[in-house]
Amino acid sequence: MIPSSLYLHIPFCVHRCAYCDFNTYAGQEALIPAYAEALIREIESVAARRPDATPAHSIFFGGGTPSLIATRHLSAIMDALRQAFTLTPDLEATLEANPGTVTAQSLAEMRAAGLNRLSFGVQSANPGELRMLERAHDFFDVIQSVQWAREAGFERLNLDLIYGLPEQSLESWQNSVKRITDLAPDHISMYALTLEHGTPFGRWAARGLLPIPDPDLAAEMYEWAEEYLTNIGYAQYEISNWALPGQESRHNLQYWRNLPYFGFGAGAHGSIDGIRYSNVLRIKTYIERLVPPSSSPAYPLSPATVNQNRPSQRDTMQETMMLGLRLVHEGVSDTVFRARFGIGIHDAFPHEVDELTRLGMLEWHNDALRLTPRARLIGNQVFMRFVGD
Ligand code: SF4
Repeated sequence: MIPSSLYLHIPFCVHRCAYCDFNTYAGQEALIPAYAEALIREIESVAARRPDATPAHSIFFGGGTPSLIATRHLSAIMDALRQAFTLTPDLEATLEANPGTVTAQSLAEMRAAGLNRLSFGVQSANPGELRMLERAHDFFDVIQSVQWAREAGFERLNLDLIYGLPEQSLESWQNSVKRITDLAPDHISMYALTLEHGTPFGRWAARGLLPIPDPDLAAEMYEWAEEYLTNIGYAQYEISNWALPGQESRHNLQYWRNLPYFGFGAGAHGSIDGIRYSNVLRIKTYIERLVPPSSSPAYPLSPATVNQNRPSQRDTMQETMMLGLRLVHEGVSDTVFRARFGIGIHDAFPHEVDELTRLGMLEWHNDALRLTPRARLIGNQVFMRFVGD
């Protein structure tokens, strides 16, 4: 029985950053108590109709800014999850937090509520870059938050950085990487800035008001960080993620291995029993659909679900390749693929595998197909080959 994972979306932020395209809203904090109640209703509604008692081995509060929610709400949601699901004894329970939105006391309360891992959105150690990203914290907040987290008993900490910022120099990036590694987190995520359509950054860049980051410099930043982190003991396990041995994010591995997860909250996505689904985006509508309780659609959907589909086996095989190839060492195991789909990777994708291995983009390592190191920077081009038909 494959354990599942539980994702909870918390769509509140103090301020909407100009580069962000997540489903999150500023100035709606008055709705937090009702939202927390709706989340609990959704958890109960789905869990009550579960046909089996498959345990859950990870919980992830993502956002938005989950650390904005009062800890009494987080505690009540964790209690509801414990009631509704069998949680494994080694549960990984992560909360995304923004430095500057936590206190020593709130972190101690989160730990007491059962959370055991934090992911801080640091983004940069450079004050000018943080201002440009419209982030409300400075690096002192990061140092303070990490110290408080450790004092509260959080041993597992992820720190996020963004590279490829407009006018960011290689030296500034190197300084940010060194300063976060000085804090000795067990996990580090590094994402390239993307100028998404529909965000202020995307619009400003399209109008020439924001210098477009230099892709060659961004590649240099990535390659420098890869080497630096490896030299100081972090192992890269996914295109954008590094961890000390044994500290990989179990929750994110669930996504990359294309394994089941429930999604709760406004705009949350789930993938359970071969059904993919997503919830309504707006906070108020989400609450209205769940409080007071209304009749529930078929499992695993909830009254908040607005999209659902059952991907074909071919779709699921393609997704498994696209996601699994992100795992730079593990790749996609042919044995696991065959056990799941009844066909080997090469038989399912003969032309793609032959061409990409010939071009030096993919390689076989034991029984797994994975990206070659030089393909990591152009992973998306490789992944897209698997959805070509
Ligand atoms: S804090 Fe994070 S989730 Fe919120 S608006 Fe900024 S980037 Fe988006």
